[in-house]
Amino acid sequence: IFITIEGGEGAGKTTLIDRLAHTMQERGRKMMITREPGGIPIAEQIRAVILDKQNTAMDSKTEALLYAASRRQHLVEKVLPALQQGYMVICDRFVDSSIAYQGYARGLDVEQIWSINRFAIGEMMPSLTLYMDIPPEVGLARVRKASEQDDREVNRLDLEANSFHERVREGYLKLTADFPDRIVKIDANRPEDAVFYEILSIIDERCAG
Ligand code: C5P
Ligand code: MG
Repeated sequence: IFITIEGGEGAGKTTLIDRLAHTMQERGRKMMITREPGGIPIAEQIRAVILDKQNTAMDSKTEALLYAASRRQHLVEKVLPALQQGYMVICDRFVDSSIAYQGYARGLDVEQIWSINRFAIGEMMPSLTLYMDIPPEVGLARVRKASEQDDREVNRLDLEANSFHERVREGYLKLTADFPDRIVKIDANRPEDAVFYEILSIIDERCAG
């Protein structure tokens, strides 16, 4: 089964995924955790081009295409083989990130973002997507608090106005409404334990047997 985790800044994806990995390991479940570019050299190289601060001239469509390209390589080289070997694959961000960030927030045409991503991933949509919803001001405050010793992350996030993060959230909420069978919205503005146990029970329910 292919599961993806989505959410805006400071929603707690990383913490949650670490706990899931720990629990599944204790249970002896064959599970692989990954995130794009996932240590796949070609995908890492593409990602480095996207993140290179020198590339201030990068056009937003170029960026969207590079994300899709990196996504395909990671899917083909890492996710598909693991699924074929019977692993439960949990991926930190996938196609919905592009719809929310490059589409709704960056302002590119959402249908066109779908179209390049369909080209990239074909029919390989996740069976389940957990969207961790948090108001941007709460999420950004968490990130600020967590990165007190390292303000590179804070500086990066501050480059983007709060309205950008609002649009990311609206995008995710729209996606949740458009794909009610695939995407489950989780209220991430709660204590870590509450979020974790809710997600664990959803995964157990979907993956019974
Ligand atoms: O929270 P995480 O470490 O997954 O975030 C990585 C960052 O990459 C996001 O904050 C976002 O700015 C950016 N991103 C993006 N478009 C994507 C995926 C990630 O802009 N499709
Ligand atoms: Mg993170």
